[in-house]
Amino acid sequence: MAEADAVIVGSGVNGLVAAAELALAGWSVVLVEREPNIGGFIATEERTLPGYLHDTYSSWHPLFVSGPAYARLGELLHRHGLEYRNTEEWVTASVADDGRVTLAHRDPRRTAEDFAHDEDRAAYLAALGRLGDNMVAIGGLMSGELRSPAVFRPAAALLRGGGRRGVERWVRSVATSGRGYTRTEFRGDEVDHLFAPWLLHAGLSPDHASGAFLMTLLAAGLHGVGVPVVAGGAGRFLDAFTSLLTTTGVRVETGTRADRILVEQGRAVGVASGGRVFRARRAVLASVTPTALYGTLLPQGAVRSELRDEARRFRYGRAAMQIHVALSQPLGWRDPRLNTIPIVHLSDGSGSTGIACAEAEAGLLPRRPTVVVGQQYVLDSSRVPPGAAALWLQLQEVPFTPRGDSAGELDTAQGWTPELAQGYADRVLNRIARHAPDLPGKVLAVDVIAPPDLTRRNPNAVDGDPYGGSVELDQSFLWRPLPSPGRHATDIRGLWHIGASTHPGPGLGGVSGHMVATTLTTGARFARLPRLSAGRRIRG
Ligand SMILES: Cc1cc2nc3c(=O)[nH]c(=O)nc-3n(C[C@H](O)[C@H](O)[C@H](O)COP(=O)(O)OP(=O)(O)OC[C@H]3O[C@@H](n4cnc5c(N)ncnc54)[C@H](O)[C@@H]3O)c2cc1C
Repeated sequence: MAEADAVIVGSGVNGLVAAAELALAGWSVVLVEREPNIGGFIATEERTLPGYLHDTYSSWHPLFVSGPAYARLGELLHRHGLEYRNTEEWVTASVADDGRVTLAHRDPRRTAEDFAHDEDRAAYLAALGRLGDNMVAIGGLMSGELRSPAVFRPAAALLRGGGRRGVERWVRSVATSGRGYTRTEFRGDEVDHLFAPWLLHAGLSPDHASGAFLMTLLAAGLHGVGVPVVAGGAGRFLDAFTSLLTTTGVRVETGTRADRILVEQGRAVGVASGGRVFRARRAVLASVTPTALYGTLLPQGAVRSELRDEARRFRYGRAAMQIHVALSQPLGWRDPRLNTIPIVHLSDGSGSTGIACAEAEAGLLPRRPTVVVGQQYVLDSSRVPPGAAALWLQLQEVPFTPRGDSAGELDTAQGWTPELAQGYADRVLNRIARHAPDLPGKVLAVDVIAPPDLTRRNPNAVDGDPYGGSVELDQSFLWRPLPSPGRHATDIRGLWHIGASTHPGPGLGGVSGHMVATTLTTGARFARLPRLSAGRRIRG
């Protein structure tokens, strides 16, 4: 039996951040991971040919470098070998089916210069300006425990900044979809074309509420921090963490699946894996879905039945798919400005992306999927052999259980067979070839990761959802992970819930791991607001 101050289940970015921060504060830590390697959805592998280093899953680190975990750990990680590559120039672009291209530069003014209408330029810069003026407050809310008095300070700052009308404006933007926002605020379609596909990276569709708020936040992030990738591949991020965890004495147990969280007298006291027990003197942190936490890991009867019901009803979002392509040479786009852009979206904006999302949510393979074309080699040529190139293609509008094909071409009756995955990958490659006709002649090898492969790799990707649960408004902010806890502290003393299924949601920010580690090590008094039970009523 091993014993430590904290036992952490799951070595995704949040588990890694929490382990490092707790260890730096002097806690002894055991990190338990079921896979042979740490990292969750972070990995770099030669998936196609020797010499081609593909970021198998996640790749882009804007959320990490702009978040509080990086503020705490960044310098240390750099000392342990982490290096980023980024651009100060054109950062992202969208290409419509008719070949129309809209580009975004790191400089918001240069981006807006290409908009057709003066009033759109002004509206775009004004929206970014408003966000910039309130960024400290909004950052505080996005990385703070929402159901705690910690929220009062950023909320008051927001009120001071814009008054009641200003706060209402933010609340309204959280209630508004991306499509609604761009239709209301802009005469031309440049903002919609550029940023509607970016909503997919937040797990939304153009018609989901909170798209208006997130579109502005995403745009500000791209202008502010760009799209950093890890030099040599995302795996080097894990190397830096491994080195840091080793020097801080964290014990990492890979190949060890947590089967149960041990609870004694209402307190989490450890984790059981097969015949092994890891005792936790002070805390257990679980980076898992609510489905796993309340459905299988906790003993029956350890929590209220309402909570189990809420966990049972937790919804998962659309599935995702990843395609890696080894190229003999860089892609030659019809529009040569795209040759040096790290992230290109094939999308008409809300129009085609909205249709593809609806098709996927109806169980259909989209006819015209939004294709995320990652060209990391333009930032980091060390990932490919000299003179060669590679594409990181992401599809975020696929059904986990396909019921048909919108194009009527592919047979989905047997589910995600290798033939179906290959057939859909061919559709995606043909779509790119319309805008880069030399693609077919440059393809050396293709690797396809279908939705069930994501679930096999990481049980947090239930139904192939890359984001740990739907991030629609009713499962975000105050209501993530679940409506009644709505925070990282659980009903069980000493048990903390972290990871993409918890606030502030998916991505590589590592924020929930950081928040819980901070609460534990600074003894924050306000980890939660008292819950009002029937016996404790507010008296007026
Ligand atoms: C294909 C893809 C591309 C993405 N691209 C980006 C990107 O470029 N930028 C970005 O910011 N975000 C991206 N994301 C999202 C981002 O990767 C995730 O939101 C983030 O990695 C989730 O981190 P996490 O801390 O929740 O843990 P996860 O990465 O979900 O890892 C959880 C870990 O816990 C382990 N685990 C689960 N249950 C147990 C158990 N019972 N016992 C032991 N171990 C267990 C799992 O094996 C896993 O290793 C992408 C996601 C995918 C799938």
